[in-house]
Formats: sequence, structure tokens, C-alpha cells
Amino acid sequence: MTIRVEGLVKHFGGHRVVDDVSFTVEDREFVALLGPSGGGKSTVLRLIAGLDFPDAGRVHVSGAEVTSSRVQERALGFVFQHYALFRHMTVRDNIAFGLEVRKTPPAEVDRRVEELLDLVQLQGFQARFPSQLSGGQRQRVALARALAPRPRVMLLDEPFGALDAKVRLELRRWLRRLQREQGMTCLFVTHDQEEAMELADRVVIINGGRVEQIGSPADVYDAPATPFVASFMGSSNVLVGVARDGRAALGSLDVPLAAEEREGADVRAFVRHHAVRILGRADARGSHGPPTATIRRVTRVGWLVRVDLELEDGQLLVAEISKDEAQPLALREGERVMVSLGEAAVFADDYVI
Ligand code: ADP
Ligand code: MG
Repeated sequence: MTIRVEGLVKHFGGHRVVDDVSFTVEDREFVALLGPSGGGKSTVLRLIAGLDFPDAGRVHVSGAEVTSSRVQERALGFVFQHYALFRHMTVRDNIAFGLEVRKTPPAEVDRRVEELLDLVQLQGFQARFPSQLSGGQRQRVALARALAPRPRVMLLDEPFGALDAKVRLELRRWLRRLQREQGMTCLFVTHDQEEAMELADRVVIINGGRVEQIGSPADVYDAPATPFVASFMGSSNVLVGVARDGRAALGSLDVPLAAEEREGADVRAFVRHHAVRILGRADARGSHGPPTATIRRVTRVGWLVRVDLELEDGQLLVAEISKDEAQPLALREGERVMVSLGEAAVFADDYVI
């Protein structure tokens, strides 16, 4: 049960909203299609589902080409953000719907419904109507309904987007467990980086209709392939500078260059807040020590301390350190500290986004 898309292109009103998108979802793999709103994620999912058709490119499900097959022929399960349960039907009838339209024998429908109620932990709710359920329960019914005909692949489009944060977190973990237990192949659309990182084996990052990067959650976080990915995956400082002797010189700071860069080329470095190190208070006399920055603001956020810094050349930098690290430093606004940078993702400034 695999999905493979190749060179998908789709236009709407003269705009190329899906632009040469290719990726695969392996058997039993959980892949997240991640990107900002308007990036083309739902359109890609609809092309895979057969709810719409591409202008170019191909869709394969389990090795067979289905690019122009009808929805019913693809045998995929879908769950969308708005549960779209039948309001006038009970939980039982909603779950049974897909089986009854397929003329499944009644005894078998009953057995399967029982099994699914168990699976989505809604035993005892069969006679309720959607209006008598919480948002999280409705979304589990939607999932049971999608699973009823034993689809080969599940497509989920921001299925938890309308739920509150706590329920979203619970359902996320529950779905992940279910996917593993059932050996499902899942393609899950989300704009939420954390959701993607927690759920997915691999992440496909899509922006402006194009794939920016494909990799494990750790890959895309630790080694962003483009400036877009660097800024989208977690918050980063952006510092400008120039390539010099194999390093990126960023004002008084510097970091290694990963790729060969023309000497003197303008570069931009993305440095995560936790990769900024505060080495200690700056000695008033020291002019040969490590680079320094002036503390502009110190804010306690839970167990973290956020320190807003201004470098000697005026560039601003945010550091996040634990409160235990911060305590002995006795950080005060207006004082100077010595700083260094850990990991950074550096890109030439003429990089075309
Ligand atoms: P995402 O799911 O990443 O938010 P979508 O795939 O829904 O993005 O939309 C991508 C772009 O295509 C958006 O600019 C959207 O307005 C446009 N779009 C999507 N569907 C249609 C449609 N049926 N007709 C016209 N424009 C559409
Ligand atoms: Mg969408």
C-alpha cells in the first residue's frame, strides 16, 4: 500500500498552485504534508484522492496508475477538518454508511461497526447523533467511518484543526498508535510543525506549490535545505554577513559554512534561539575576548529565559537558555555579555526562494 506522485501540476485561474510535486509514501509509513496555508497541500491531497485531476503528472497507488480513475476506484479513506458526519444519522449509521452502500451483508456490517466502535473507543455511543458528541468524539467517528471499508490508504486533511489544543494532542497520539497497530499507510496534511514532527516518519514540506524538502522530522529540523525550511521549522534568528575563509562572518560573530561559498558573497545565517550561547558577563576592559552583545531585555517564559541581545554591529539576536543556566549569569538589561553561536544554517543571500 504505497502512494507515489510524480510531477504533479495543477493550475487555478492561471496560477500554478501545485508545481511539479513528487514524493512517495511507503507501505505502513506515516507521511506529513506540511506547509503554510495556501501552499497547495489540500490540492495535492485532492489530486491523490481523485476529487480533482492534475494538469500534468501521475498518481500511483500500490504500483497501479490511478491518475484519471474515479474516487471509488481508488479505495482510499479520507478524513477532513470538518467532520462532515451525516447529522441526521446515528453514530452507528454513520460508521455503517460506507458498508451499506457497498451492499455488505447486515451481519457483517454489525460485526464491523462493533469492531470500529471498539477501535475508536466509542462503545456505548452507537445511538447518539453527532450533535450529542464532543468535537474529538465526532472526529473519531469520522475516522471510524473512513476505516470501515478497510481502505488501502488513509488521507487526512488537517483532521484535528478545529479542535482545542488538549484534545488535538490526545487524538494525535491516539492516531499514531492506531496507525501502527493497524499497519495503515497514512498521508496527513497539516500546517502545524509540531504536529508533523510528532506524528510523521517523514515530512514533505511544501510552499508555494513546490516541495522544499523531504526528510525525517530530525533531518528537516537539523539540516534545513532552504531558507524557507530554516525559518518555517521553529523560530530562528536571521543574521546577515559575508563568506570569508570558509566561514560566515556575521558582524563580530561567525559560524562555519557548510557549502562552498564564493569569497565575499553575502550570506544569511539562521540560528535557533537555543543555539545562541551566553558565555558570561563581559569584562569591561577586555577587547580581545570573545564577541560581546548588549542585553536589551530578559524575559522569563516557563522554564526558559529569553534574552534579547544587540550585537556590536546593531544586529538583534534572541537567546533562549534554561533558568538554571541563567541564574549564575545574573543577566541584567543594559549589561554586556560574551556570546557565541552553535549550529546555524547558512545560505547565500542570492538564494532564490
Ligand atoms: P493549503 O491546503 O496548503 O492551504 P490549497 O491547496 O487549499 O492550500 O490552496 C492552494 C492555492 O490554490 C490557494 O491559493 C487557493 O486559493 C487555490 N485554490 C485551491 N482550490 C481552488 C479552487 N477550487 N479554485 C480556485 N483556487 C483554488
Ligand atoms: Mg488545506
